[in-house]
Amino acid sequence: MKRNDVTALMRRNVLIVEDEQDIAELLALHLRDICERVEIAADGHEALRLAFARNWDLIILDLCLPGPGGLDICRALRGEQRYVPILMLTSKSSELDRVLGLEIGADDYVTKPFSVSELMARVRAIFRRVESLRSRPARNDETLCVGGLTIDAASRSVSVHGQPVELTAREFDLLRHFVRHPGRVFRRAQLLDSVWGYGHDGYEHTVNSHINRLRSKIEPDPAHPAYIVTVWGVGYKLEPGTAVTNP
Ligand code: CA
Repeated sequence: MKRNDVTALMRRNVLIVEDEQDIAELLALHLRDICERVEIAADGHEALRLAFARNWDLIILDLCLPGPGGLDICRALRGEQRYVPILMLTSKSSELDRVLGLEIGADDYVTKPFSVSELMARVRAIFRRVESLRSRPARNDETLCVGGLTIDAASRSVSVHGQPVELTAREFDLLRHFVRHPGRVFRRAQLLDSVWGYGHDGYEHTVNSHINRLRSKIEPDPAHPAYIVTVWGVGYKLEPGTAVTNP
């Protein structure tokens, strides 16, 4: 294990919210291999108390709980300033809950019954994404690269496979927002708040039309987007691919 991995590992705190004791303990057993602290909340009230008691690096959140449910807890956490990654556990029958969960800001979900190795792969993917974002210096002159896209924040210029692309200011801000949060699903209302800011017109079709124009400029095949993909029933995300920051 590299030194950086050990350093990151030592800082990881994970909260498991799950009322089925067998599942909770099995997850805790595996998570303790890659995390410093793992705690379990077995009902919604305990979950809310613990969720706000500490800065967690990940919350694994079962949807169906005694007391407040997973969706209520997710909503409460997303009302907070600090962002904590949330991985939802859902049952096969709750398609609607899954969509709702992503809509109110969960990062990913795993459907029960799941294999521990599948869940741990998702957990590792979330850690990788969050830790690579944290290790980036917060600068306004950063250059971001995803696949063939290069985004230079200082000159506000974008190129696709070395070819410069003309974007409007809003299209640039929208693209930069996605590239700064690779893999994260944003619903249209969230994009209006984050990219348009206060004073936006509140029309979600504004987002759709900007995404379509952006795709026509950056996507090799705009009809089958490779970068900014639609998450059905929820919104959009940037395919994480090979997002890196160049010095
Ligand atoms: Ca449950």
